[in-house]
Amino acid sequence: MVDNGCRTWMKLVYRYRVKSLTGLLNKQARAVNFVWNYCNDRQKDALRFGRRWHTGFDLIKLTTGCSKELGLHSGTVNDVCQQYARSRSQSHRPYLRYRGRKTLGWVPLKGRELKREGNAFRFAGNTFRVFYSRALPEGKITDGTNFSRDRCGNWFLNIVLEVPAPPARLPVRGVGIDLGLKDLATLSDGSRIAAPQIYRASEAALAVAQRARKKKRVAVLHAKIANRRRHYLHTCTSAIVGAFDYIVVGNINAAALARTSMAKSVYDVGWSSFRAQLAYKAVKHGAWFEEVNESFTTQICSNCGAVPDSRPKGIADLGIREWRCCDCGAVHDRDINAALNILRRGRATLAVGIPDR
Ligand SMILES: [Zn+2]
Repeated sequence: MVDNGCRTWMKLVYRYRVKSLTGLLNKQARAVNFVWNYCNDRQKDALRFGRRWHTGFDLIKLTTGCSKELGLHSGTVNDVCQQYARSRSQSHRPYLRYRGRKTLGWVPLKGRELKREGNAFRFAGNTFRVFYSRALPEGKITDGTNFSRDRCGNWFLNIVLEVPAPPARLPVRGVGIDLGLKDLATLSDGSRIAAPQIYRASEAALAVAQRARKKKRVAVLHAKIANRRRHYLHTCTSAIVGAFDYIVVGNINAAALARTSMAKSVYDVGWSSFRAQLAYKAVKHGAWFEEVNESFTTQICSNCGAVPDSRPKGIADLGIREWRCCDCGAVHDRDINAALNILRRGRATLAVGIPDR
């Protein structure tokens, strides 16, 4: 969210599949790769000769005047230079990988260069028709907007739009969410969200295609499975943001768990996309979102706040689903208890009091 004086703004990304001029985009993507690799070469030169490393601004100066020859918009060339410098410094590496045939296509553009034209978009003298799957609201198209190609070769236009943020809701209905493996999430109100299905039919077809070495078919099937997963997560997160004003999630870390014996099931569940979707949807709908430290949330009794001896401990006791607090006698479902503790932790940091559930 960007604070702009009296009004709060937020950025939303709208993604449209492009249905025309994809050949042109393929060509431009190759030119973008050329610029990127040129930046990488200049960076390697700087390393070799012990010169000062190039900033985005330096790279823009070095590439001035090449846009016409490459068939790119000058804004695109500038964006590639800036993105190269940004990615390089974020990666903490002296130089980056070259972009080549296997890299997913990418053509960035300056937001102000993209104009609406009915249900199509005009950029650099060309009209790009898209599948106008949802209406683009009024708002300023900003930098970060780009064309990108997925593994199946489809082009998408990703529009970054700046729109006024909705007023924050009163945090009345709160929910704590415990992320897990058996269920994707357990809510403090007792409801559960099942882990996304493994789509057996698709998996079998995938295996057949892989054995036959049909690369294109494999890519299509992978995309299909990913789409179904994404759709499932979107449905769940939308429902949660619709039902609750205040959402607290534990900061459970998939990378850390993946090092344990449960590695295989962890990679699949999609906690990070789940959390990311909740975070941006909360902003979009004026709800509150918070991530809290989830350590010991399974061991503390949510009724009396004690850490009783009868609690489930560590990974060895993961199988225990239900336990009884030996201090106050409350009987807990392991995951709901954790979700309640997470909600309590979130509440403690919220200035406004929320009535108890
Ligand atoms: Zn207790």
